[in-house]
Amino acid sequence: METVRTDVVVVGGGAAGLLAAVAARRLGHEVLVVEAAGQLGGATALGDGRLWLPANHLMDKQGVGDSAVEAAEYLDAVLGATTDASSAARRAAYVETAPKLARWLASSRLPLLVDREVADDHQDAPGAKPSGRVLRSQAFDRRVLGEWANALRANSSPEPRPLAERVLGRFGPGHASRGSGEALTGELLHRAAGNGVELWLDSPATSLVADGDGVRGVVVRRLVHGTGSEAGVQVEARVGVVLAAGGFEASQELREENLPLPTQAAWSAAGAGNDGSAIDLAVAHGAATAELAEAWWTPVTVVDGIAHPLDEERSQPHGMIVDQTGSRFLDESAPAAQVGRQLYDRSHGVRAIPSYLIVDNRFRREFRLGPWQAGSTPRQALESGDLVRAATLNELAQNLGIDRAGLLGTAVRFNGFARKGRDLDFDRGEGLVHSGGGRRRNPSLGTVDKPPFWAVKVFPGDLGTKGGLLVDADARVLRADGSAIRGLYACGGTAASMMGRTSPAPGAALGEALVGAFRAVLAISQESSAG
Ligand SMILES: Cc1cc2nc3c(=O)[nH]c(=O)nc-3n(C[C@H](O)[C@H](O)[C@H](O)COP(=O)(O)OP(=O)(O)OC[C@H]3O[C@@H](n4cnc5c(N)ncnc54)[C@H](O)[C@@H]3O)c2cc1C
Repeated sequence: METVRTDVVVVGGGAAGLLAAVAARRLGHEVLVVEAAGQLGGATALGDGRLWLPANHLMDKQGVGDSAVEAAEYLDAVLGATTDASSAARRAAYVETAPKLARWLASSRLPLLVDREVADDHQDAPGAKPSGRVLRSQAFDRRVLGEWANALRANSSPEPRPLAERVLGRFGPGHASRGSGEALTGELLHRAAGNGVELWLDSPATSLVADGDGVRGVVVRRLVHGTGSEAGVQVEARVGVVLAAGGFEASQELREENLPLPTQAAWSAAGAGNDGSAIDLAVAHGAATAELAEAWWTPVTVVDGIAHPLDEERSQPHGMIVDQTGSRFLDESAPAAQVGRQLYDRSHGVRAIPSYLIVDNRFRREFRLGPWQAGSTPRQALESGDLVRAATLNELAQNLGIDRAGLLGTAVRFNGFARKGRDLDFDRGEGLVHSGGGRRRNPSLGTVDKPPFWAVKVFPGDLGTKGGLLVDADARVLRADGSAIRGLYACGGTAASMMGRTSPAPGAALGEALVGAFRAVLAISQESSAG
């Protein structure tokens, strides 16, 4: 087998892998990234690219005070008791590294800004902040990538959209910045390619190379030039192997084995690709796993086989989520992780998978719904049943096959709450309430009573799985006895998340992924200079 040597080999070219590569290169190492897909960017490129980095330096500029102590207090309050995956050391490493990482990203000239509208998810917890901790990349023009421009996964369309449209699409008022994950990976790819990181596409890692009880490389399947056939290449890493190959969200088999049921790979917004293969490779070398039943839950609707998170839609007025008995059962505006989990909890008692987001015509005129812009009438979706429309709630219930009396009763009750601006059942939107002119206004509540009525299915989807390889605070892969496998590191979706059943804020998945990648590289470097 052909053998190639480098200092650091990184498996996977999403945000975690690209950041590890750029950081290792900046520390003077030779770096090779092997990516299974034909493009870089992974699930990260499809996402919003928000990063939860508490106590970051941009908060000072905004006059929002924060400290690692407050962040640690908040994290402990939200995460509860420590576990193998959520050790005190990992939590401390997160809050200690987050501000350093933010500065390092800035010093690498990655243009970040504070996502002002985004708060920590648990405002009642000690140490919570109403804004400032969530950062995101500014718009990115993929043309700066030159020959690598087509090697970056695009957020929605394979064709690069005009810059102006992307800038407006990302930063216009009220828009979820779908393009930001693409911007983040684009910037990292730009730094990687520009600084001599070697990047192999269409090159899945298929096994690890053992070195006693440690690891010193990977075997990669590659196309042999000019032959059309594939062969294994052994990549030996003098310094370390970083597994950053995402989770197992795209594997139906692993989902059914580990996640709550029912589950479908199509409910993951992370798209196809991350099949858990890197986790398996490490397990074959004795690595332990944790948190396999958990995911970054988020309610989604599925259109043409693609999962669309219902993030903004859930909180907008003139809509409500009901189960198949026509009953509401949650605060629709609650954090995504909570709502996703509640869909499963509810389904233990009644049929709640799918549930339905039911909106009236005012909602349709004003707000986006899944992939459809406000005001549009997507005929194909109506024909396929991905979107259902009816003149009355009675007819809508009939078309959906859910309990008619239940839905009508729920609508009467909900509309009464909406008129008073207080949801006595689930406190929807209470955190957003403001008063003016003696009136109380809850911007998340509005009656559902203007025909026609519209509905989409709501599934317990995810932004990726949380379970993976057990790691220490420096992303070293651990065995069940707590010892580290020499030479092997894991971060991002490949490592077991420390967030357990919950999440501190939007941006925690990527924050954790990048903190892990950063710490892995620092540890690798220290070990190589010590050795
Ligand atoms: C729609 C959406 C929105 C999101 N928004 C946010 C957000 O705003 N903030 C946040 O924190 N999180 C968000 N997430 C979650 C976040 O994107 C993921 O947690 C993050 O992308 C994980 O990064 P990663 O580098 O570990 O994995 P990925 O970015 O998925 O990269 C993994 C890469 O590894 C490659 N790979 C897989 N197996 C192999 C193999 N055997 N050999 C070589 N390569 C392999 C894959 O092809 C892929 O390119 C979102 C996710 C989605 C889907």
